[in-house]
Amino acid sequence: MTGLTPAAERRERILQEAVSRGLLDAERSQLAAFVDLDGVAATVDSLHRAFPASPRVLHAFAAKANCLVPVLAELRRLGMGCEVATAGELARALAAGFAPDRIVFDSPAKTEAELRRALDLGVAVNADNHQELARIDRALGDRVPVSRIGVRVNSQLGGGSIAAMSTATSTSKFGIPLADPGSRRRLLRAYHDHPWLTWVHTHAGSQGCPLDLMAGGVAQAVAFAEEVNASLGRRQVVGIDIGGGLPVNFADDETAPTFDTYVRQLRAQAPALFSGGYEIVTEFGRSVLAKNGFTAAYVEYTKSMGGRPIAVTHAGVQVATRTVFNPDAWPLRIEAHDPSGRVKRGGPVRQDIAGPACFAGDLLARDRALPLLEPGDIIAVPDTGAYYFSTPFHYNSLPEPAVHGVRTGGDGRVRFELLRPAQDPWDVPGPGGHGAPLRQRAHEPVHGAVGRGVG
Ligand SMILES: *Cc1c(COP(=O)(O)O)cnc(C)c1O
Repeated sequence: MTGLTPAAERRERILQEAVSRGLLDAERSQLAAFVDLDGVAATVDSLHRAFPASPRVLHAFAAKANCLVPVLAELRRLGMGCEVATAGELARALAAGFAPDRIVFDSPAKTEAELRRALDLGVAVNADNHQELARIDRALGDRVPVSRIGVRVNSQLGGGSIAAMSTATSTSKFGIPLADPGSRRRLLRAYHDHPWLTWVHTHAGSQGCPLDLMAGGVAQAVAFAEEVNASLGRRQVVGIDIGGGLPVNFADDETAPTFDTYVRQLRAQAPALFSGGYEIVTEFGRSVLAKNGFTAAYVEYTKSMGGRPIAVTHAGVQVATRTVFNPDAWPLRIEAHDPSGRVKRGGPVRQDIAGPACFAGDLLARDRALPLLEPGDIIAVPDTGAYYFSTPFHYNSLPEPAVHGVRTGGDGRVRFELLRPAQDPWDVPGPGGHGAPLRQRAHEPVHGAVGRGVG
């Protein structure tokens, strides 16, 4: 009886294997990240099973949550589509092998060239505003679009607990408002004028939005679709894109809420979504990947300041940007492991867990009760599979850590596959910017300076 959850046991097992195979190494690889590909498959399966298969459903993974091409390719093999919000994400989705008609292009700032490209490819497009609709109209000319084209609507129902994550506020920058005076009528007219407008899109927000707010936003989108179809006397709107935003539990290893819970809420608040009259697209990101990834870093030094023990680790703002800049909104768990990767035992001691960057706020956790960390120990940071190590912040020229995929075969053996190589901090462009990189290696003498006490 270890007292560990199955997920914590798996992290321990992965860390031990990673240490014994040198993927984590106090000298050469002090920071690395892991994506549990078995866990991803189970999560995607739970998503597919939560939604009825008919009418047609496409679960488009929100690429910004984890944009590593091998991760996107894995999600494609598991039957998902891909939601992209920039040209860069579109390029990555195509590189991952998604068929254009399984890609959804959302962005509030699509350029004319990007729109033409998407329409030529047959990528689904959700327009953000009336000016974009006019551009799409011009780009199409007389063509009947291959792309599914919709409009993002904002129910203006309100926000969740994290302002920066709330997109359904009355003054949000996203979509066309449904509640502003005259706005609904103007949008209705746009559907009249553009027979190629056949979808309605909404995304009420991400982490921090309660389920009834999210489902309320979907209900508003469905009601608008019904209104369009009733006023046209035909079913022009054939699909609803309900967005993503299912919140993730960062407090422990329980997955809550589940996709099943959300579908129950949708059935209660937006029953017409499941009437059989609409195809459905979803755009979940965080809820697919967050709990299937973790970050691991060595403790380099420990000290005490003003009576507070502090562990200086190699994981900080470069892999946990949101947590460092907004710790109250984005708390992360920290787990203490010994140098071999085993879960560390010992009475809890309140300590700060700091990162390597040169500013005082670079802390993963403050005043956190953990077995007292020592140099050479390893910390694991669960629930970081989405929006953390996959989206590094290059402050202090801190390099991107390696990301390893993990699978357990039928024989119970842990297998690693490299999803992103570690960036080499000594690989820097020369003074001309582009051109031949100035390759300096930590172990190579720099212009004969070694031994002269430079610095
Ligand atoms: C960010 C975003 C998503 C994904 O949100 P999650 O909280 O990661 O599920 C989906 N759709 C749109 C339009 C987004 O901006």
